Parts: sequence; C-alpha cells; structure tokens
Amino acid sequence: MIIQRVVLNSRPGKNGEPVAENFRLEQSTIPDTIQVGQVRVKTLYLSVDPYMRCRMNEDTGSDYLLPWQLAEVADGGGVGVVEESKYDSLAKGDVVTSFNWPWQTVAILDGSVLQKLVPQLVNGRLSYFLGAAGITGLTALLGIKEKGHVAAGANQTMVVSGAAGACGSLAGQIGRLEGCSRVVGIAGTDEKCSILVQEMGFDAAINYKKGNVAEQLRELCPGGVDVYFDNVGGDISDAVISQMNQNSHIILCGQISQYNKDVPYPPPLPPDIENIRKERNITRERFLVLNYMDKQEASVLQLCQWIQEGKLKVRETVVEGLANIGAAFQSMMSGGNIGKQIVSVSK
Ligand code: NAP
Repeated sequence: MIIQRVVLNSRPGKNGEPVAENFRLEQSTIPDTIQVGQVRVKTLYLSVDPYMRCRMNEDTGSDYLLPWQLAEVADGGGVGVVEESKYDSLAKGDVVTSFNWPWQTVAILDGSVLQKLVPQLVNGRLSYFLGAAGITGLTALLGIKEKGHVAAGANQTMVVSGAAGACGSLAGQIGRLEGCSRVVGIAGTDEKCSILVQEMGFDAAINYKKGNVAEQLRELCPGGVDVYFDNVGGDISDAVISQMNQNSHIILCGQISQYNKDVPYPPPLPPDIENIRKERNITRERFLVLNYMDKQEASVLQLCQWIQEGKLKVRETVVEGLANIGAAFQSMMSGGNIGKQIVSVSK
C-alpha cells in the first residue's frame, strides 16, 4: 500500500532554530497484509511539541528521549482510527492513540503500543486527546498538583509563563480551579494576552515583548508570587523568581527559551537569581509528567469533566495536512500557536 510519510531531512544543529525544511514529505509503502498482534491505523491527528526540538539533535541530552534519525520517519503523539485488526482487544473503527505515532498517513503498529480512547469523553473532539485531555492537560494538572502546593483559601497568586500555549493556557485555568485567588499570564502577543483575560479567566496578562516584565509584575502581583508555572525559563523566569515570596514554589514544566541552545536541562539559574531562590526557600524541582502515569486515568477523567462543564476552555491551532507538519512545528516554536498546535492528517 502506498502511503505518505514525513522524515527528518536535516538537523538544525544544537544552537540553531528549527525550520520546516528540516522535515521532508515522501511517498513510501507498507505491506498490504498485517500479522497477528498488529493493527493497521489511519492517522487523524498528530501533535507537535517543544520536546521534539531535542529529538532533532543527534544527542537529545535526555535519557527518556531518543533522537530522530536522518531520512527516517519522525514520530510523536498521534490519534487515529483502526482500519484492520489482528490484535484481540482492538477492532475496526476503534479510536486509538500512542506517544510514538509515526508521522505517516497509514501505519501498521503492534496493538500493544496503542491505547483505546473513548470519544464521548471529549464530545467527539478527538484532537483533544493530544491536548487538553491528553499529555498537555496531564502536564498542567499534575504539575500543579505534584509541585504547586496550591491550597484553596490560601490566597495564592500564580504566574504562568508561556501562558497562551498548550500547557500554559490550561495551567492558569487549573490553578484557579484548584484555588489560586489571582492568576497572571505572560505571553508573546497582545492577542494572546487578550484571550487569556477575556476567554480563559486570567486576572491579567503581560506581553513580554512590550514593556518591562518586572515592572508590570510588581504592579499586577502586589502581594508577590506564590506559585510560578514555568514553561519558558531565561529572562522571563528570572524576573518572576525575583518577585516570589518566602516558601513559594516553581513548577518547572519546561524551558522553551533555552531549547535552541546547547545547555543542560534544567538550565542552572544565574547566580543572583539562584541566591534569591535559596534565601527565600523557593522550590524548583524537576517535573516530568511521564513519571506520574499511574495517575493518568483519573486525571484524564477530571480534565474531561471540566471540559464538558465548560470550566476548562480549550484552544487549538490546527494546521491541515501532513505536508505542513514541519511548518507547524516551526511556527509553534516561534509563537505562532494559540493553545495546542495540532496537525490534522485526514478527515
Ligand atoms: P506551547 O507553549 O504551546 O508552544 C510554545 C510557546 O512557547 C510558543 O507559542 C511561544 O509563545 C512560547 N515561546 C517560544 N519561544 C519562547 C521564548 N524564547 N521565550 C518565551 N516564550 C517562548 O508548547 P507546550 O506544549 O504547551 O509546552 C510548553 C512547555 O511545557 C515547554 O517548555 C515544554 O517543553 C514543556 N512540557 C513539559 C512537560 C513535562 O513533563 N515537564 C510536558 C509537556 C510540555 P509566545 O508567543 O508566548 O512566545
């Protein structure tokens, strides 16, 4: 059977910005018949995510991420539908997902690597399983629960960086649902800031590309910052940490501002900021959602319930066509997305 697939065409280099041309669409073939234990799936949606930047390097710098190989098909989170099954617990028509879905239109996979999904949980919005009802939502919820020390009634102020992105937009809303009394977002455009406040219930938002972040934070968080959901690192985080309270908590979700640089993860804080962190006893523990997969099932149900109740507003930026996945990745890395960046492969 003839299929389309996307392979890694070139590496951007550890200190380079990724571009669409780092990926290449090509035609390939898969066997016409499947073996016992296998299923043939049609790809519906693929996810592009910041961690993929590390997979573009020969050495990902991380023991849980494998590098993509040149001229070989890339992979990541995906959702699709079973076309044919020789695996006992999956049948034609089932909607399934995997963290290692190949970037191709149709694939033959071992049934054991697929998780069956319940479309009703997201009112049929299947792409949500890659975002708000998938790893992204889990990252926001479990990051807050495991590292945020949020307590209802404690009058806490939360700041979220990368706030209009996939994780950030959910994290601010979940911070509020879990009991924070004030939630302030930091994002890269006025449009994003306005969506955070008008649509997602943030109290305020700062466009970090305009004006002085530290000054605006002082104004918007007069009682200091108790919880910081950090997606970006770098100067923005230094400004936030400088205004954090005694015994406060950083949720070290990601450091996207450092991903095009050859630095270790997590990048160390500058000495003056690290001194502040120590003096004020601010926690900054590494958080990796994959370490909490025992909580996946209950947490996804919680996220879906909030979505259905309208308590969690979901935004997606959907790009059509496998051919455009490289461009979607480039755009997401440079701020072109609002909410979760999704690639729709076939309808
Ligand atoms: P995302 O936020 O939807 O997309 C990336 C966004 O980052 C861009 O839209 C851009 O928005 C912002 N950005 C890019 N470069 C920046 C820079 N130099 N300074 C400030 N902001 C910048 O992606 P996501 O999937 O939600 O991921 C967010 C973070 O969570 C990433 O760091 C990712 O690695 C991390 N993550 C961690 C885990 C975990 O288990 N710990 C799991 C999933 C994701 P602006 O317009 O605002 O610049």
